[in-house]
Amino acid sequence: MKVVQIAVGQMMANAFAAYNEGSGKAFVVDPGADYDRIVKRLDENGITEVTHILLTHGHFDHIGAAARLKAQTGAKVCVHRRDASMLQSDTENLAALFGEHIEPVEPDVVLEGGETLLAADIAVEVLHTPGHSGGSVCYIANDAMFSGDTLFYRGIGRTDFPGSSAREYIRSLQNVLGGLHKDYTVYTGHGIKTTLFSELQSFPYLQL
Ligand SMILES: [Zn+2]
Ligand SMILES: [Zn+2]
Repeated sequence: MKVVQIAVGQMMANAFAAYNEGSGKAFVVDPGADYDRIVKRLDENGITEVTHILLTHGHFDHIGAAARLKAQTGAKVCVHRRDASMLQSDTENLAALFGEHIEPVEPDVVLEGGETLLAADIAVEVLHTPGHSGGSVCYIANDAMFSGDTLFYRGIGRTDFPGSSAREYIRSLQNVLGGLHKDYTVYTGHGIKTTLFSELQSFPYLQL
């Protein structure tokens, strides 16, 4: 599976396209902004079909190009139940707070966590990891994890937004991510990629 990273928007959120080489099909994680740049990178990589738009959570910097990408490709928009209403509200998705407007988009698949999707013929497991937002999820596909704002290189996301919960966050880090027995390359929502085990070892709160 190949992963293409595209930093988009004023917050430099990472959008990703993941695909099996030669298949022409991809799923896109967090198309946060810059629709034209995302499509250009898809074209460069021979992608002719986007099957799913996988949102790690509902904040504006991760969803901004989802409506247009869905309209142009017919891809299914997937988001966790607890963040679903953010896709329709600039207040809830924090766009208003940062002086932006997000084109609202209807989710096609409302996630609970624990399910496995077949996206671009790739099995994608959904882990519900609330904390940064109530509906934050991490997606696992092959050896890759797409962590959104739940896990960064040597850091975690903010917990001071409406819907954030430090208590839930600690539980997600300890019990959900901390309970995984396989190392993954972690493609983070902002900044560079990392690995799960290096983060588990870096942070004392993950070892409690
Ligand atoms: Zn966020
Ligand atoms: Zn973000």
